[in-house]
Amino acid sequence: MDADRKRQLKKLGKAEVARQSAELRASLTDANPAALGDSAWANNHKTGILREKWLKKKLPLLRQKKLEQLFVVLPIVSAGWRPTLGGYIQCRTCGSASPSSIPERKFFYWATCGCGNIRWRCIGPFRRVVVRAPDQILPVTLIGRG
Ligand SMILES: [Zn+2]
Repeated sequence: MDADRKRQLKKLGKAEVARQSAELRASLTDANPAALGDSAWANNHKTGILREKWLKKKLPLLRQKKLEQLFVVLPIVSAGWRPTLGGYIQCRTCGSASPSSIPERKFFYWATCGCGNIRWRCIGPFRRVVVRAPDQILPVTLIGRG
């Protein structure tokens, strides 16, 4: 790789980091619109944290309307997704968000996204997820709204 190409790639990398930071900042402002230092900000922050704790504990499959009411959805830029405990994926067809993995502590988990693309069927040791159209799945981060 010559020096020019190296410089070019470095520039592209910096631009991508700046774009992602701006996107994250916008999402955080969206999740908590109050000004930093305002007493409303602290209350909003608390509500957001409680929502994220609830999400981690219950691992609900959220339909789009409820999802947007409770969380700001931030897409994770990656080449794909893999099951992660605590991670979430979004169905691009119906907008539902689903856990990307279900821990063994959940004895029963039976949920389907709005269009039927993602289907969880877990009873005791029998655990199965069926994703009909994997290309319609996007890994996401959910930020609790305040
Ligand atoms: Zn769906």
